[in-house]
Amino acid sequence: SAKEQGVDIRRYTPLMQMKAKEKLKLENDLRRALERNEFYLVYQPQIQLSTRKLVGMEALLRWQHPKRGLVSPAEFIPIAEESGMIVPLGEWVLKTACRQNKEWQNAGYRPICVSVNLSLRQFMQPNLAGKIEEFLEEIGLDPRFVDLEITESMTLDKEKAFEQLQRLKDIGVYISIDDFGTGYSSLHYLKNMPIDRLKIDRSFVSEVLEDSNNAAIVSTITSMAHHLKLKVTAEGVENEDQLQFLRQQHCHEGQGYFFSKPIEAQEFENAFLRSALY
Ligand code: C2E
Ligand code: CA
Ligand code: CA
Ligand code: CA
Repeated sequence: SAKEQGVDIRRYTPLMQMKAKEKLKLENDLRRALERNEFYLVYQPQIQLSTRKLVGMEALLRWQHPKRGLVSPAEFIPIAEESGMIVPLGEWVLKTACRQNKEWQNAGYRPICVSVNLSLRQFMQPNLAGKIEEFLEEIGLDPRFVDLEITESMTLDKEKAFEQLQRLKDIGVYISIDDFGTGYSSLHYLKNMPIDRLKIDRSFVSEVLEDSNNAAIVSTITSMAHHLKLKVTAEGVENEDQLQFLRQQHCHEGQGYFFSKPIEAQEFENAFLRSALY
């Protein structure tokens, strides 16, 4: 039919061919990037709002491409997910972030928690908890200083998710739901999941003073978290007014440009671990 022809034509436009080619190229580059040491981590502080004390840091992945320069995770994470590359890559992130955290503890800084993003494919690995447990034992890092961030979409298969989360809780790591409010979660089932923390998505926090719906969402999530005895962290805190609002709601922790952008390890050590916030 004409409609089908239309689809075929669109599928073969030069632009789309180029995009596919470009993607393939990026995928190939991604495959070699680990061996070539093109990845590094940046860390963003997580601050207790009542005291302004540093309580944690989120490790975020960066790719320094030899020709393209810095490639955004928004661009390469989806490709890494599709190709399965995210599994070895995510493992590298977890190991690097945990080693760094242990190194800082060894240097005598007050221990804080490191948050690492888990992709769906990583989360689905049946031996994930065992592998993490073994690694943490090997480097001597207490599991309570490791936080795994998953998203609501990963908990769609209730039973599988529950089992996997239970295994992870059993080894003693902390579990957070990232980007909370943007996905699907039945409240009943949230109540029964072995999780520790909700991270309120940046989209609600960023417009919390301009948009009364966002204010209602943030305050509802925060109060629900209190009732369920979960920690609650606001993402994307960019100014003092948002901070005041969040404090009024008794939101426990904040993360965002107001405190700091994600920064490299050395800078994080200088600016946060050594500073008065410490
Ligand atoms: P995310 O996990 O929600 O991470 C928070 C993102 O928000 C980060 O973007 C961070 O730089 C940004 N951000 C933090 N505070 C503010 C703020 O105040 N204002 C604004 N406008 N942005 C803020 P980034 O580093 O570009 O990462 C984007 C996404 O890529 C992450 O979102 C996460 O989903 C994914 N990602 C990053 N590193 C990893 C990783 O190691 N593994 C996996 N699976 N995904 C990762
Ligand atoms: Ca995250
Ligand atoms: Ca997030
Ligand atoms: Ca996000």
